[in-house]
Amino acid sequence: MGRFKDEMIEAPDFTEEDMVIEIAGEPKTRARPLKHCAECGMEYRPSANNNRFCSNQHRKDYNNREALRGAQLLRVAYHHRRLASGSTPEERKDSGAYLSAMSRLLDGWIREDMREGRKPPIRPADL
Ligand SMILES: [Zn+2]
Repeated sequence: MGRFKDEMIEAPDFTEEDMVIEIAGEPKTRARPLKHCAECGMEYRPSANNNRFCSNQHRKDYNNREALRGAQLLRVAYHHRRLASGSTPEERKDSGAYLSAMSRLLDGWIREDMREGRKPPIRPADL
């Protein structure tokens, strides 16, 4: 026993930082925080900071639906506004029908999105 006494070395002072164990295979960069997919609502880890979807398929589904809805809304809104400045009472009455149709479309989409667990579309930045 006595012969080891001279070989004993004093333990260095450890800080809390020294005590962190690095697990093999873990990325050195900090992982991005989890997000909820704008299409399905499922939690996922984004591959880029501006990523909003859990998969390419959900990005396509979201963008296709938004494009389709936008086209439908454009047609209804356009004729609503065109007839609102019409010269006859019939034209102005038809304008009101288009406005009602616009509300029905939007209400249906809101219900559908809630049912499917989708987030609302991004709000326009300049309104
Ligand atoms: Zn998704």
